[in-house]
Amino acid sequence: MFDRLRRWRAERFEARHPFPAEAWAEARARLPLLQWLDDDEAERLGRRAWRFLHAKRLSLHPDLAANTPFDEPARLALAGQACLLTLGWSEDEHLEAFSGFHEVLILPDAFQRQVEEMDEYGVIHAYVDERAGETSHQGPVVVAFPDLMESGDFCGFNVVIHELAHKLDMGNSLDVDGFPPLPRDIDPKAWHRVFTAVWDDLQAHLARGETPPIDDYAATHPGECFAVCCEYFFTAPDELCGAYPALYALLERYFRQATLDRLPLTGQPDEA
Ligand SMILES: [Zn+2]
Repeated sequence: MFDRLRRWRAERFEARHPFPAEAWAEARARLPLLQWLDDDEAERLGRRAWRFLHAKRLSLHPDLAANTPFDEPARLALAGQACLLTLGWSEDEHLEAFSGFHEVLILPDAFQRQVEEMDEYGVIHAYVDERAGETSHQGPVVVAFPDLMESGDFCGFNVVIHELAHKLDMGNSLDVDGFPPLPRDIDPKAWHRVFTAVWDDLQAHLARGETPPIDDYAATHPGECFAVCCEYFFTAPDELCGAYPALYALLERYFRQATLDRLPLTGQPDEA
């Protein structure tokens, strides 16, 4: 019965909001990350991105809205990167995973936050943190425009994927802890073991004064470790798999996507 209801809703949505195939093709042409999907994936992602744009409010800061053209392909490109995370999941799982926010807010620049954190000894550390994006439980997903423009390539950085990963993480708690709700076929102990090994390796690199194999922002907090690993999983899976094969394999099962197979062979468009 729910299937029929869902189908009826989908048909009604499509009738009211015909899928903008041309704008989606343009969005894919702009972002390498969306270009390398196969036809089936691209079709499914495009339609989800289109529904995402109707389910969530996409807001531009007034300073941006005045002089930044943010056309339909740009909106679809943003939604496409968001929905890429859940592309391997069913419609219900996707809707549930993204139920904790209603708005994506784009700010003109990276923003600063006064952060206070208590360490394990109960000492409060206060510092100013420059952020490309931000998200909180039930709050909007906030991204900075320059970082959004830098996202969409196979470079290991993607602010949309990063912030949405935090939203997945918050599916079972008020704060990020690197432990999102897991499907039944993933043992929480295995999740903990694999992520702890990566965390320990990151800390060991830093302690030796060496550059870790992935962005050292991952070493600042277990929640950031998960979000950064998600960025690599989708945008530099070869680097993630090279450095931490067990983690890549775990995320492949979690997201039900084999991003390594999707990676372009050269990473560069054809040079004519
Ligand atoms: Zn973060």
